[in-house]
Amino acid sequence: MPDYHAPLRDMRFVLHEVFQAAQLWSRLPALAECVDADTADAILEEAAKVTGQLIAPLNRSGDEEGAQWQGGAVSTPQGFKEAYATYIQGGWVGLSGNPHYGGMGMPKMLAVAFEEMLYAAGSSFALYSALSSGACLAIDAHASEALKSLYLPPMYEGRWAGAMCLTEAHAGTDLGLIRTRAEAQADGSYRISGSKIFITGGEQDLTENIIHLVLAKLPDAPTGPKGISLFLVPKVMVNADGSLGERNAVNCGSIEHKMGIKASATCVMNFDGATGYLVGEVNKGLAAMFTMMNYERLSIGIQGIGCAEASYQNAVTYARERIQSRAPSGPQATDKAADPIIVHPDVRRMLLTIKAMTEGGRAFSSYVAMQLDTAKFSEDAATRKRAEELVALLTPVAKAFLTDMALETTVHGQQIFGGHGFIREWGQEQLIRDCRITQIYEGTNGIQALDLVGRKVVGSGGAFYKHFAEEIKAFTDSADASLAEFVNPLKDAIANLELMTSDLLERAKANPNEVGAASVEYLQVFGYTAYAYMWALMARTALAKQDQDEFYVSKLGTARFFFARLLPRIHSLTASVKAGSESLYLLDAAQF
Ligand SMILES: Cc1cc2nc3c(=O)[nH]c(=O)nc-3n(C[C@H](O)[C@H](O)[C@H](O)COP(=O)(O)OP(=O)(O)OC[C@H]3O[C@@H](n4cnc5c(N)ncnc54)[C@H](O)[C@@H]3O)c2cc1C
Repeated sequence: MPDYHAPLRDMRFVLHEVFQAAQLWSRLPALAECVDADTADAILEEAAKVTGQLIAPLNRSGDEEGAQWQGGAVSTPQGFKEAYATYIQGGWVGLSGNPHYGGMGMPKMLAVAFEEMLYAAGSSFALYSALSSGACLAIDAHASEALKSLYLPPMYEGRWAGAMCLTEAHAGTDLGLIRTRAEAQADGSYRISGSKIFITGGEQDLTENIIHLVLAKLPDAPTGPKGISLFLVPKVMVNADGSLGERNAVNCGSIEHKMGIKASATCVMNFDGATGYLVGEVNKGLAAMFTMMNYERLSIGIQGIGCAEASYQNAVTYARERIQSRAPSGPQATDKAADPIIVHPDVRRMLLTIKAMTEGGRAFSSYVAMQLDTAKFSEDAATRKRAEELVALLTPVAKAFLTDMALETTVHGQQIFGGHGFIREWGQEQLIRDCRITQIYEGTNGIQALDLVGRKVVGSGGAFYKHFAEEIKAFTDSADASLAEFVNPLKDAIANLELMTSDLLERAKANPNEVGAASVEYLQVFGYTAYAYMWALMARTALAKQDQDEFYVSKLGTARFFFARLLPRIHSLTASVKAGSESLYLLDAAQF
């Protein structure tokens, strides 16, 4: 399996040249204290070493061996335990954690670059700590001071891991149906009983303790989503001084055998009267869990980019070396029996599609992270509110569009290898298998699309959308004439999105099926338009520096490919949105 090299040059381009992150950090006092451009670069360099040298070499063997279950215990593949022990020494789990409890307090803009490297190096390995970072976020935002000071420090250290326990056999998307119960105890704790399925890292052999965040219902809770509370349930009880006590009544009943991320344990978790502690308010558990889910959703979008980047790196190397047939314009490598396949238009189409969507996705995830940092650290209430609303709007796009594009492009990465992509040797098929789950978990992409259209666009009466559209319009209005080739199609795309949005808002008033019928294609049009904005921003920077370095020439060429070949996809998607719901209901259930 080829090596993984973190795309540091592109990450620095996005961070420093496109978004001028260090300037933003210097304006936010909590960040100004701990990070500047040099610190960020040093962290990225170190992250590249850890992911490329420690984690990537385990990706193939981890997939082949998989996680194993025996008598309630789960073992991770050979090498994971040692690598995890080395990995946590770098403090990576607490990279963007609260410094008050031992986190490093770094901005999310930096954390997303690190997460991409981690997922590219090995999705399964990455998941063991990704869930911890999300759990810490929910605990930090909603738990009592006593829980925070007891649990957060060892979790940030990576000595204890976090797990997210929502799903039950009969309750996936519709969490209002959960049956796990919580009963209040005299000492203020709760007894948690029920069974959860599909719990990532619910059991493993990497950490001393696992902290489960569990959704459950109190006996007198209202039915549906409004009756759900959130509980912290440790695998091993924790004494007041932080030392470990008795084993709690939490057990792993089995693990799943699955298509991809085979080294990540996906567990059935049984809670048999386990001791738990309330996090946040009674019956407000779903809202508290959303703190974690929003974080995880962006993280899963980034998992997609990581898979696509790894696939791209392999595919470019292969396309330069593999020789087959001659270029349509005549022989290029005259000293060889055939030309390298990178000369062929279709191979170039596939490589450029992966490159354009991966680099566009990288810029977009940084942009969303920039809004998260602004929402968390800005001292101005109006600025914070705008950023929060942008995060709410863009999170479902980041989760679903990034992962839809990641699956499409990892398939291109396999296709470039021909039959050699289908066999295991080159690692391309594993990347597809590992990437596929990103469209499903953390809420399926269909549900993300409903969230975008139903809750974020229609639900806010178009107000959240307006922030984004106005920002893009301000950019296009102020753009230099030299940028016309990028700005004009961006203007058309935003006008198209605007029209489609107002048309949909209107139709949704008359027919409740319209939102669900339009949502997936709507999200995709939104995604391409958002990437067009990212590519126009990147092109602006690259245009000014194209004489300095090949990197900028490559960037501009990729921008031109995006606008010429990928953005026009919005036209057929828009036609599908406009077609409405009628044709979806021509058959009754028996006629399928
Ligand atoms: C490998 C793996 C790891 C996971 N890790 C975790 C974890 O750590 N913690 C955890 O709690 N869960 C986890 N999950 C569960 C995951 O989040 C759920 O599988 C997912 O949310 C979908 O739920 P479901 O499988 O029950 O599908 P269902 O909810 O049954 O959905 C089936 C289909 O119906 C569609 N659908 C459902 N409702 C609607 C609607 N209202 N409108 C339109 N379409 C709809 C869905 O989009 C989907 O296509 C994991 C799952 C897997 C496979």
